[in-house]
Amino acid sequence: MTATRTAVEANSIVKAFGQGAVAIKALDNVSVQIKQGEFFTLLGPSGCGKTTLLRLIAGFDTPTSGQILLDGTDITHLPPNKRPVNTVFQSYALFPHLTVAENIAFGLQMQGRPKAEVTESVARMLALVQLEPMAKRKTSQLSGGQQQRVALARALAPSPKVLLLDEPLSALDLKLRKEMQIELKRLQMETGITFVFVTHDQEEALTMSDRIAVMSAGHIQQIGAPRDIYTRPANRFVASFIGETNFLSGQSDGTTVTLANGAIMPLIAPQGRINLAIRPEQVRVVPPGTDGAMPARVASTVYFGTDTHLHLHLEGGIDIIARQQSPAQGGAAMEKGEDVGVILAEGALQALED
Ligand code: ATP
Repeated sequence: MTATRTAVEANSIVKAFGQGAVAIKALDNVSVQIKQGEFFTLLGPSGCGKTTLLRLIAGFDTPTSGQILLDGTDITHLPPNKRPVNTVFQSYALFPHLTVAENIAFGLQMQGRPKAEVTESVARMLALVQLEPMAKRKTSQLSGGQQQRVALARALAPSPKVLLLDEPLSALDLKLRKEMQIELKRLQMETGITFVFVTHDQEEALTMSDRIAVMSAGHIQQIGAPRDIYTRPANRFVASFIGETNFLSGQSDGTTVTLANGAIMPLIAPQGRINLAIRPEQVRVVPPGTDGAMPARVASTVYFGTDTHLHLHLEGGIDIIARQQSPAQGGAAMEKGEDVGVILAEGALQALED
């Protein structure tokens, strides 16, 4: 389903706002290649430059330097309406006085498509977003989730090569947002259209995307499949922004690393002092004295329903969090002050770039 052809390419993009000393570089030398048919997410905290990059792809703005290519053609200076690209905004931007069907037809009519084609296309889109019974309702009479579906159908109707989505689900409540995440993913797979999705919600990004670009302060920190980014975060920013992470430090000799408690683990990393990360679910708590386990004491336990977090003190001043199943789910019951052993899952300790 996912071909390897590049749909959208951003080359060395710089976007500065303002002049001289007060200039802000919203994007500072950003390059990214988004593949044909891919669900690609720009993920990062507020102000990192996600929307700016999306606006440059849409053509609402031009970069200070660098190029935007679409299917290999330079579109950097092409106006938005000349690009085979459509955008869905957080605000939906529907026409409240028009019906659902009229809203969906709008873009097609603007393109001067024949009436029969418009009718056929609107019917197909109504079926795709499961709003056939609502076709004749005014969009002002719809729920937030239904309005979002209309906005999606309207943007998909002209069959754009790329659909840009700027936090399209953030106005919805949590339950509806989860439903729409599944819906969006289905729409993307059924249409095969390249989606470029902007969010600051890491869970949303992990569940929906084929690949994610993690951004901060105008830079791309890492690009990869959700699993790569989660299990192999490139640096401290990515490790802390995505999921929960324990940060440790150690001394590397190139093939092993020595932790502050004297434990030696196999790890290929540059020699010297290094920063390390490990996910809480990769920290195993075992009975004290277990072969190969590091001695530890339970400092506190925090119950999260099916999971419990164990805050552990190790020798050498190491504090680490382990996540395990709660006792009702089959995990061992642990008490504050209890002596335990800790084993770091093989291969789970990660050397960070900085
Ligand atoms: P959010 O999640 O809050 O929308 P974002 O990651 O999409 O954030 P951008 O909207 O791309 O971030 O903004 C990146 C930076 O550029 C911010 O520092 C912002 O203040 C600045 N910026 C964006 N647009 C303009 C503008 N038109 N004029 C001046 N500065 C701008």
